[in-house]
Amino acid sequence: MENLYCQGCGAKIQSTDKDQPGYTPPSSLNKEDVLCQRCFRLKHYNEIQDVSITDDDFLKMVSQIREKKGLVVHVIDIFDVNGSLISSLPRIVGDNPVLLVGNKMDLLPNSVNKRKLTQWLRSQAKAVGIKVKDVCLISSTKGQGMEELTEQIESFRDEKNVYIVGTTNVGKSTFINRLIKQSTGFSEVITTSYFPGTTLGFIEIPLDETSSLIDTPGIVNKQQIAHYISSADLKLITPNKEIKPRTYQLNEGQTLYFGGLARLDFVKGPRQSFVCYFSNQLPIHRTKLEKADELYENHIGELLSPPNKESLQKLPKLTVNNFKVTQDKQDIVFPGLGWVSIMGDGATVAAHSPEGVAVSIRNSFN
Ligand code: GDP
Repeated sequence: MENLYCQGCGAKIQSTDKDQPGYTPPSSLNKEDVLCQRCFRLKHYNEIQDVSITDDDFLKMVSQIREKKGLVVHVIDIFDVNGSLISSLPRIVGDNPVLLVGNKMDLLPNSVNKRKLTQWLRSQAKAVGIKVKDVCLISSTKGQGMEELTEQIESFRDEKNVYIVGTTNVGKSTFINRLIKQSTGFSEVITTSYFPGTTLGFIEIPLDETSSLIDTPGIVNKQQIAHYISSADLKLITPNKEIKPRTYQLNEGQTLYFGGLARLDFVKGPRQSFVCYFSNQLPIHRTKLEKADELYENHIGELLSPPNKESLQKLPKLTVNNFKVTQDKQDIVFPGLGWVSIMGDGATVAAHSPEGVAVSIRNSFN
């Protein structure tokens, strides 16, 4: 098998790992001009499939973006901004302009202020050194914001290539599949879907005579909670429809458990409301702070679930961070899970999350 390379993307053909570039089912190996499964699906079904690689490999592979001119479209998940921003992006893209795309906006309740969200995304990107031309909010599954985004891409790319980058799970494939299907704004050439790419793991879709849309492999970010839980749990914590905020009136000395994956203690402050924005399927338990540790020890993986038994084996232990909510409304953000808006005037809280998945605080979007 050593000498087989995909005729589409150039990836080395392998039959061992479905999630890595070059995967081809063993039954397709004896064909001439072998295509990896990803290129095969693109060619025959106009469908993009995600593959993932590590940060280092990604850096090696994408050095070509620095050298070529084009627009970089960085797709992130608005529910896991810290987990989906690629901090190595400035090194990768060089001087090329970056358009930041916040995906999955269909999950946000109407009460969320989109302008504030956009500003926050911009500031989060800036904090990791990514200067963005603009920020677009979209839903790849529902198509919201796609027309505007297509226009932005057309104007920023200046007839050059468009590189789509993102970590795994942000909806990059869904996004590209929608781009392929919708013709407005892009030349209809896009529906041709398959042209041989030149670089390992990259897929090129021609936009016009001289430029292409290039899908890069999804990058793995270890900060994503998704890497520490089973696929069944991932399904539970990932919202699949508009989030219904859940409000708790808490006194100091009370604790909220989000399944058993995270926890928020109301340590000090006047009675006030805590509005929780999480997947509607994620159970939230209220308990007394003094009983919270005991509850965890006795019921993690059972009453406090997710995590299920399988996730428990790989889930890092919970670590705690303290926050003082000084303004009227601030959000405590649990990356990949959701957030809690604290509405009152002054509260000291302790936020527990799996080690490596850092909790943060921001001005509320509501
Ligand atoms: P990739 O790994 O970045 O290519 O991500 P996928 O396109 O495979 O999507 C990951 C998950 O997010 C899938 O379950 C998608 O259905 C879901 N998803 C993608 N885009 C959206 C969106 O706009 N809204 C919602 N609610 N879910 C989305």
